[in-house]
Formats: sequence, C-alpha cells, structure tokens
Amino acid sequence: MAGRHLSYLASIPVDNIARLGSVSAKKLATVDVNSVADLLLHVPRRYLDRSQLFDLGGVPLGEYVTVGGTVLSVVKRRISKGRVMTTAVIGDDSNVLTAVWFNPYIKIVEGEELILYGTVETFRGRRQMKGPEIDRLDAEDSSMGTIIPVYPALAGIASRQIQNWIANALARSQPVGEVLPAELLDRLDLMDRATALQNIHFPSALEHTIPARRRLVFDELFRLELSLAVRKHFQKAMATGVQHDVSGPLVAAFIDALPYQLTGAQQRSIDEIQKDMAAAHPMHRLLQGEVGSGKTVVAVAGLLGAVQSGYQGAVMAPTEVLAEQHYFGIVELLRVAGLAPEAIDPAGGSGTESMFRPDGDGGDVGVRTVLLTSNRAYVNFVAGSVTRAAVIGWIADGTVDIVIGTHALIQDSLSFDKLGLAIVDEQHRFGVYQRVQLRDKAIGYDPDLLIMTATPIPRTLAMTLYGDLDVSVIDEMPPGRVPVKTHHIDGVEAALMEMYAVVRSEVARGRQVFVVCPLVEDSDKLEAASATAEYERLIKVFPELTLGLLHGQMRPDDKQGVMAAFKNGDIDILVATTVVEVGIDIPNATVMIIEDADRFGLSQLHQLRGRVGRSEHPAVCFLVADPATSDARRRIAAMVETTDGFQLAETDLAIRGQGTVFGVRQAGVKDLKIADILRDADTLFEARREAFAIIEADPALVAMPDMRHELEAFLGEAAEWLIRS
Ligand code: ADP
Ligand code: MG
Repeated sequence: MAGRHLSYLASIPVDNIARLGSVSAKKLATVDVNSVADLLLHVPRRYLDRSQLFDLGGVPLGEYVTVGGTVLSVVKRRISKGRVMTTAVIGDDSNVLTAVWFNPYIKIVEGEELILYGTVETFRGRRQMKGPEIDRLDAEDSSMGTIIPVYPALAGIASRQIQNWIANALARSQPVGEVLPAELLDRLDLMDRATALQNIHFPSALEHTIPARRRLVFDELFRLELSLAVRKHFQKAMATGVQHDVSGPLVAAFIDALPYQLTGAQQRSIDEIQKDMAAAHPMHRLLQGEVGSGKTVVAVAGLLGAVQSGYQGAVMAPTEVLAEQHYFGIVELLRVAGLAPEAIDPAGGSGTESMFRPDGDGGDVGVRTVLLTSNRAYVNFVAGSVTRAAVIGWIADGTVDIVIGTHALIQDSLSFDKLGLAIVDEQHRFGVYQRVQLRDKAIGYDPDLLIMTATPIPRTLAMTLYGDLDVSVIDEMPPGRVPVKTHHIDGVEAALMEMYAVVRSEVARGRQVFVVCPLVEDSDKLEAASATAEYERLIKVFPELTLGLLHGQMRPDDKQGVMAAFKNGDIDILVATTVVEVGIDIPNATVMIIEDADRFGLSQLHQLRGRVGRSEHPAVCFLVADPATSDARRRIAAMVETTDGFQLAETDLAIRGQGTVFGVRQAGVKDLKIADILRDADTLFEARREAFAIIEADPALVAMPDMRHELEAFLGEAAEWLIRS
C-alpha cells in the first residue's frame, strides 16, 4: 500500500516488525516506543561515515573524530573505590593510540576491529582517547552504504539492532504519506516526509541529513503548536466567561491614589488585562515581568475589576512568606487608596453578607481581603484574630472580596461564592494542573485566569510551555532604578574584608543587608542548621550590628516576627535560607550576599539578586563562590556580566538543556524528541506562525484531515478539543 500516513503507522505495534519479538517489544514499551511510527521517529544521534575515517597517523588533536583500527592489547585494572579502568592499544598501518574507559561494562577483545568516536589528546607523551564511543563494523554493513546511523540506546538495546528494525520498518512503510500542503512545503523550503525519513536514517551523503532533520523538527514543533492553537481556540470558543465591568469606580480610585505614576508597561498590561476581563470569553494570560518591575499593582487593578463587578478575586502564591507579603502589600495599597473596609467587632454578628454589605448607598465600600494558608488566616475587616473556619465560611458565602493564599486555596474543602479572577503567582513552582485547579473553583463558568511570573522565560520556551496563553510583558522598570552591581568574591580573606566593609558602610547609611545561605537539597533541617551557623558566625564579625535569622524550620509566628522586624528596619542584616527567594519586597535593602553561590541555579541567583535594587538607592550583590565546575563558572560569569533576566534565561537554557529548565519536566517540552528549542528556534517560530494561521482560518482542520488524524494519534489532549468540535 502506497502512502501510509504516520497516524496509521502510529497504530501498528512494533512487534509487527520482522525480527522484533515480544521480549524486545516489552523493553521498547518501557521507553514509550510502542508503534512503528515511534520507531521511525527515533532518529540517529550521529552517523559513522566510513569514507571519513582518519588514519591513526594523521588524526588531529582536540576535535571529534572517528578512527578505526585493530585491538593490539587490552588491560583491565581495578582502581580506587571499585572503579575499573580499561586500557586498549589500537593500531593501524600508520600508527597506534591508546584508549581508556572508566566504564566497568566495556567489553573489548584482542584482535577485533573497532571504530572509535571521540577526541584525541596527548597524555604523558602518548596519544590517547578518553572514553570514546565504540562502534563495530560487521559484514552486514557493507550492504548499507558508507554512512551508518548511530542510534541513541533504547532500553539498553544496541544501535545495530535498532538500525535493523528501522530498515525493515521503513522498507515496509515507504513512501510515508505527506500531510502538509505542497504550497507550505514550497514556501518554507521543506523536504517531503518520505524523503526526510529515508535520509535521516540512511543518507547517501551526510549533508542530506540536514534538510531531513529540519523537516522532522518542523513536524514535531508544528504538531505541538497546532495543539496549542487548537486548545486556545476552543477554550475561548466553548467556554462561558465572566464579562467583568472594568469601567467601574474601584479601579480608577485605586490608580488615582497610588503614590507614583504607573510605568507605560504597567499601564499597557492593565489595559490588556481589562480588555480580556471585559470580554465574554475567559482570559488566559501570562503576566511576565522582571523582579521589581511592579506586577503587584497590575494584579490589584485586575482584582478590583472583578470586585467591582460583584465577583471575588483570588491570588495563589507558592510560599507562605510570599502569600503573607502579598496580603500585607495589597491591604496597604487598599488602605492608601481609601478602600479599606471599616473594622467591625466580630462579637457583633456571625459574619454574614448582610452584616458587612448593606444594600444601597452609604454602606461600607471597603474591599474585604483575607489571607488563608494552611497555618493561618488574617482578614482586614475584623478587629482581632479570626479562625480559619470563619474565613473559609466567608469565602464561601461571598463576604470576602479578595482571597490571598497558598495552595490551601485549592484544597477540596474550600469553595468560593463567585470567583471571577484567579491569579497564580510564580506559576512555575506549581504544576500546570494546580493553576487549572484554582480556576476550577468556579462552578458552571470559567473565571479569568492570570498567571504571573518573575522568572524570565526565553521566548522559545514561552512559546511551548505557555503557547496557549496570551502574554503581557512588563519590560520597563519603575524610574530611578540603578542596575545592581554584581561582584564575584572568591573566598579569599582580603575580598571578604572588602565585602564586610561595604556591609558596614551601607548599614551606616541606614540601609539593610541580606545574607543568603546555601541551599541544601532535600533537607530543610540541614539548610536551617547551616543558616544558623552562619548567623552565629556573622554575629561575631559584626558585633555592633543587629542580625536576624530566617529559615524554613522556624514557627510561622517567629518567621512573621523576623520579617516584620526587618521590614521596620529593626534588623540590619538578615541571614536567611532561600525562603527569601521570591517576592520579598524590602526597598531599603541594598546589599545581597549569596554564600556558596555556585550551588544555586541561574534563575534562583537572579531571583535572589532581585531582592535588592528595589528603590532609588544603588545596590550591590556579592556572589561568594569558588566554583568547581565549568557550568558553575558560566553561571557566575553570566550574573556578573548582566542583570537582564531574559539574557540570563537564555544562558540558563543553554547550560541546562530544555528538559530540565525550572527543575521540572514540563509537558510539551518533554514530548519533543527531535527538536531542540534553542538550536531550532527559527523552525519553532515558523511552525508557530503557520500553525496559528491555519487554526484561525480552519479551527477543526477540515481542510487537513490527515494532519488532524496525526494530531489525534500523537497528542490526545488536543484531539479532545477537535473531537468535541
Ligand atoms: P514585582 O512583584 O514585579 O517584583 P512589586 O510589585 O513588588 O514588583 O514592586 C516592586 C517595588 O516597586 C514596590 O516597592 C512597588 O511599590 C514599587 N513600584 C511599583 N510600581 C511602581 C511605579 N510605577 N513607580 C515607582 N515605584 C513602583
Ligand atoms: Mg512580586
């Protein structure tokens, strides 16, 4: 049968392939290779070009090369801690070289022919390859041309085996059917799919693999972007949103009362959010802005838009400290704007709607705001303390207008009366599902959703992770901010003394200092202990100053007390763990010292540095580190070089690779098997542009049924929307 489509091949189990039995099929299933299509899309990692083998005599040093030769001798030797070193001498007509491996599973026998891939260095006067990859040519390969694909291992199955299966599968599947219109292929100069699959696996010349790879990368990104476009389209088209009244008096009163002018970027973001909130379809928007760019007022403007329309607004923050800070910040902004509710005596009533909100004019116009975390509950309209149970009741019956909290907000037992706007702050710390869960607190309709993040995301990553969201960017800082000067302190005594001198002179000017202690992976206890030790050490360094300590093991009341004292200026130096990472706003702090900075990730360092430089006072950041790895050196160098979060995010992506950004594997990106969003950024932009244009004109892909089947086969979730349409 000619023209089999990938969607069809995705339904054929791998064990239909000759010489691929049920044992292998089970192994392949463990790495998610289930169908013939999955196998065909498992592309070579590199190629062995037999015409490009170097003679051992002429091989250049320091470059990746492929060499071939006979094994003249092999020695296996036990070295420290049970490690095994294998040394082999390889020779050809022209010369010999030594290869060493520290992998105990290396199996080499004297006399066999090996192909080695790696770099050649000189070591004690001899030419040596350290840990080269090993290939072996056998009789079969002579039938395969001079270029041999080398596959990434799948569940421990050797490249040679995979190659045989793919050769077999491809022979029976070709020509694999085309799904893209000829016009598109032509315009984007893309190779047809059948040729691309042939040339990626069995190229007759190495340069043929380049357009082949580009086509397969495009396919992968195009499927992803189509699914995002489809999801975005149907979320809008099929959801019942809230048409908020954004022209009411609350928002205007709030903005008028601010002690400063909004920046252009803040105003633009507020306009974009209001336009979405007023529309009939629900908002799905990402608000991105550097640390200190002023996202909070933008968020409050949104919340007040919901409140003045008779709905509730909610803000979910990733940590208790941050939730509390949002609460106190927002309550203060409301107070300044004259929107604080009158405090009432809780003994006077049960806390029902009628008690607070008399019908008609003359009643309390205040905005009732609560904080709810798993440990505590505050409200801004009751004198004295309240119970969590009371607050939960007031959220459910509509007494409360604005709810701020942690993930306590998405617990099952909590219900809202009328949630109109859900804001999720620093969303990458929550799973994607948690953001949806907060929105799901509204029953029978979809509230507006705003996701705020201070972690700059490279544009390419935003297009995949958040590709179904609209984006507002606050790309302008409030006026008068001076970029934070950053210094690398290598731990040498003299440098430390200079740093301490800066601390003393800043404190003498009335400024304050953060000292952040190293992260201890998976152990709050150890982390707390190291912060405590550092605190005690610094008390001796600065006997004349007041120090405070903040870590995750402290009781919530104590944490709160320390934060309040620091905010009031009663503490000069706050020694803390990374609990201060996000959101903390102490404009008077001008020095940030990060201990063992090499142990932090780049986005974390950027967040921490963002805790200073939040006022007109110039600020400085010291990275105390003796970096041992080249990645750590790159991170420190990047921090010293720039304060541009987007540039840092690109560097971070380059250092860490797409699968691990944010420390969590995110759906969407992890599904990319061939594409690399950094390297293939141009193809990503193309795929996104084409996908969104197609869905806008033809949301159910009526004109591209084969593509539609392919989406259904590859991306179940997107297909759900198509099926429902
Ligand atoms: P983000 O949440 O984006 O990190 P914040 O909302 O906490 O930033 O704002 C940082 C600081 O800047 C706060 O102290 C805030 O009062 C101040 N600020 C916000 N917008 C402006 C503005 N337009 N002009 C001057 N200061 C501002
Ligand atoms: Mg903030």
